[in-house]
Amino acid sequence: MTCFRCGRASTSESEVLTWVNERDGGRSRWLCPDCARAHVRDIESKLPDEHW
Ligand SMILES: [Zn+2]
Repeated sequence: MTCFRCGRASTSESEVLTWVNERDGGRSRWLCPDCARAHVRDIESKLPDEHW
């Protein structure tokens, strides 16, 4: 399992629990905890423009 944003690989099963699975057009991809936080901020700031 590899973070699609930064390419970091998860190293332990307990760490996997903190990763975020995101579905995009039927595919699922994984975000490490750090990227998940940054990514959520990206989505929230971009959503008004890109979504509409
Ligand atoms: Zn990452």
